Amino acid sequence: MTLALPAVPGTAAALDALADLVADGDVLVLSGAGLSTDSGIPDYRGATGALRRHTPMTYQTFTRDPRGRHRYWARSFVGWRQMRAARPNDGHRAVAALQDAGLLAGLITQNVDGLHQAGGARDVVELHGGLDRTVCLGCGDYADRAALDERLRAANPHFGPHVDEINPDGDAELPDEVLDGFVMVGCLACGAGPLKPDVVFFGETVPRDRVDHCFSLVEDAGSLLVLGSSLTVMSGYRFVLRAAKLGVPVAIVTVGPTRGDAKADVRVDAPLGDVLPALAARFAG
Ligand SMILES: [Zn+2]
Repeated sequence: MTLALPAVPGTAAALDALADLVADGDVLVLSGAGLSTDSGIPDYRGATGALRRHTPMTYQTFTRDPRGRHRYWARSFVGWRQMRAARPNDGHRAVAALQDAGLLAGLITQNVDGLHQAGGARDVVELHGGLDRTVCLGCGDYADRAALDERLRAANPHFGPHVDEINPDGDAELPDEVLDGFVMVGCLACGAGPLKPDVVFFGETVPRDRVDHCFSLVEDAGSLLVLGSSLTVMSGYRFVLRAAKLGVPVAIVTVGPTRGDAKADVRVDAPLGDVLPALAARFAG
């Protein structure tokens, strides 16, 4: 059976190959920002792989530059409204449906938006952490981001500039003079430490035990299915390299070229919002 999709040369055969791979089960999904763009969360990189206007916060700036950190939190405070309002899309729901059908061995996401979980997926490994919690750089205490937001709103009753656009890390673009008027709060556990969203910034290392867990998932998988990632950062690309080395088949579904294309056994260059629902429908009980 051929999946019903708009006719793109070469796509139908690739979709059949993808469906065959998924039918074998034990699929390990590795998802990236491209899966959440339909939910209104922009990708850092467009289809061409070119960096967009926004320069992402780096770990070095965040930890060493109090002013940079302050401005990050001011932007994040504004962006949080929109990030929290984002809803899972058909792609997220299709992944959850594949999991419900017993076809997935695991689900790793590079996204920090929590939309897989909101879409019904379970046991999601958040490779780069999640925006729904914070960690104290002083004492290591983890706390709920929603609770922090309540404290920030109390401390900033009049800080609410309107923005139309947020970045993938959940922050917004604002002029420096506006950012400097923001009041940040500290860790409640130790009373002093600066807070960081529990996400892995550019220039930061993913915790070793998390990486090892992902490698073990790759080793046990029947196939690796990459969704919506250009695999530009080694953080995710290394799992494709490991899979290829082990002979675990790799499928990549995303629009535009990826760094992993030479390693892919199946390559579908089509929108996830078309491919994933059609794929899930094929396996619906
Ligand atoms: Zn603390």
